[in-house]
Amino acid sequence: MVQLSPPPAVHWITDTLQKAGHDTWAVGGAVRDILSGHYAGDWDLTTQARPQQIEQLFKRTVPIGIEHGTVGVLARDGTLFEVTTFRRDVETDGRHAVVTFADTIEEDLARRDFTINALAWHPIEQKLLDPFGGLKDLEAGILKTVGVPEKRFAEDYLRILRAFRFAGRFDLRIDEASWKALCDGTEHLRGLSCERVRDELLKALDRHRIPSRTLSLYAKTGALGVLYPELDELRTVDHSVALNRWEFTLASIDELPPGNAFLRLAQFLHLLDPKKVVGILVRLRFSNAQTDETSQQASASPLPGLGADDQAIRRWLSSNSPERLNALARLELARARAHPSLRKTPSKVVDSWRRARLIRATGVPLSISDLAIDGNDLIRIGLRPGPNFARILEDLLDFVLTDPTQNERRVLKAHVEARLGAYEE
Ligand code: ATP
Ligand code: MG
Repeated sequence: MVQLSPPPAVHWITDTLQKAGHDTWAVGGAVRDILSGHYAGDWDLTTQARPQQIEQLFKRTVPIGIEHGTVGVLARDGTLFEVTTFRRDVETDGRHAVVTFADTIEEDLARRDFTINALAWHPIEQKLLDPFGGLKDLEAGILKTVGVPEKRFAEDYLRILRAFRFAGRFDLRIDEASWKALCDGTEHLRGLSCERVRDELLKALDRHRIPSRTLSLYAKTGALGVLYPELDELRTVDHSVALNRWEFTLASIDELPPGNAFLRLAQFLHLLDPKKVVGILVRLRFSNAQTDETSQQASASPLPGLGADDQAIRRWLSSNSPERLNALARLELARARAHPSLRKTPSKVVDSWRRARLIRATGVPLSISDLAIDGNDLIRIGLRPGPNFARILEDLLDFVLTDPTQNERRVLKAHVEARLGAYEE
């Protein structure tokens, strides 16, 4: 007997399916996480029942991925549990595995990628099923594919990136045969869809305490050069600078707390030329908003140092957008921590941050929306709306950034009127 103490709903769902005659097991992440002494994330169940049968047995269900055999079952407390019909791989093209339903848990476990992910636990019998020695590998700290590595990676090359992520997250050594096969397979990563590659990277950055472990596997195996050649260039040693740019990048990602993948992504890209940053984000099909925010964070200039006057700080806040202050300060603080001999020490970054926060809190005008007049006022002054409105407002912002006390309707109107001729050109 192996006791794993899952949430009560796991027992209830399993019991309901078992009583209807369908063999049902807890699988994957949660079983692995608990057995390796970690906190379990989502509990996933796998069952002999077909999706329709699952839907008939439970009052509240959500069709999460019926085509993959996954039905979401809502527990009384509102938690959603994924219940997936046993599956087997039938044919594959390296981009993703094609699956069909299977009749036994053994078949289902055999299609899973790594031995540590091919563990199943029976919530009623409290029995562990481990046909590929995943528990032993977990204890020995080894990541190994289920079955012949070359074959398993060729079925779905995303498994190469998944190997990096699991090895990094649990600090596992990738066994020799799997290592060789995945190094040989990196060229094929080009064939994967951008979205899968992107989501895998975000997962590696998101919750891990030390994401550099995963990212250095990308580098060591050549996957970085295939997927992110711009970042791979950081690894070339430049003897004119004291620090190794790649190592510095990794260390400064590790200094950011888990739970904010996008902040870590900005750090990952921060040493690249701004055009390359945008290039990578667009290529990975991030949304326009995500691309904009992340590239602005990655390419921002450092906070003004202690010698800067208030105006310099206002201008920095204005050009980087005041809402971005905390994110940018966190990024810079992590870099200062990762490389203590940088010009700005962590405590100096904190001082600059504090000062910028104080200035922002005074409510001084920092963006066009803070100006005492707007486009309608310009029309009332007699200007024709058009592209030059933006220029005029920028000009006014510049004026009040120099002296915030000038942010009054009367003063700004006079300022515009004095330049009417120039604006009308
Ligand atoms: P996480 O905690 O990151 O969610 P997980 O193990 O639950 O880890 P998922 O990606 O959610 O990972 O997948 C759930 C399970 O499905 C895995 O444990 C694995 O057994 C199987 N699996 C997922 N993707 C693949 C794949 N590409 N090839 C083979 N098996 C896979
Ligand atoms: Mg999961």
